[in-house]
Amino acid sequence: MNAWSYSLLSVAVVSLISLVGVLTIALGVRRLDRVIPLLISLAVGGLFGDALVHLLPKAFRDSSSPGLTSLYVLLGILTFFMLERFLHWHHEHHQQALNPIHPVGYINLVTESAHNLVDGLAIGASYFVSVPIGLATTWAVVLHEIPQELGDFGILVHAGFSPRRALFLNLLSALLAFVGVVVSLLFGPAISGYEEIILPLTAGGFIYMAGADLIPELHHEHELLSSAAQVAFILAGVGLMYLLLLVE
Ligand SMILES: [Zn+2]
Repeated sequence: MNAWSYSLLSVAVVSLISLVGVLTIALGVRRLDRVIPLLISLAVGGLFGDALVHLLPKAFRDSSSPGLTSLYVLLGILTFFMLERFLHWHHEHHQQALNPIHPVGYINLVTESAHNLVDGLAIGASYFVSVPIGLATTWAVVLHEIPQELGDFGILVHAGFSPRRALFLNLLSALLAFVGVVVSLLFGPAISGYEEIILPLTAGGFIYMAGADLIPELHHEHELLSSAAQVAFILAGVGLMYLLLLVE
């Protein structure tokens, strides 16, 4: 029961983050452009940290076959890659010509919804293993959702949705994380060896997200000072994950 209440509370907090989009109106584009790379850096550190400090050591400690565990990590990386490939493929082949909303808006909604579902699965699975692991994964999700949601809101408004509608759709897509949590906690215990599979899969997914989705975003900045700030914020994200080891 503990895992359920922790998971649902965590995912409620994560869903509320979808509302940070309103900040884009308050802050304005210029100030946002300066803050977002730092938030992304923090998210990179959080995702790498959760994968490398919490999920993988735990997965290998409990593993009956380290070689198989490594394969699951690889599978997690490839699954995220293929999910993205499929969604982009889908986009190119199903464009609607007569719609006033730019297709990018819909693609973003579909991609984000799938992503939120996976976040929910990961949170549920992590609490299923233990409360401290669940907390670490929740932090990793919270940290990457902040810049993600800020960006999504901008994309949706840019694609032609009204700000109000963009917020509503973002919240709706965030609610899919609840579905992920419920599926994970409901079916996880029924699958034998669930924990041995889901921890390395999640770790692989988080490593992919940080390395393939977020780090390329950081390459837009070229000044030495901003690069140093990015590294500092990545280390801060990893540091937070080490701090969370204290509660384990
Ligand atoms: Zn996410």
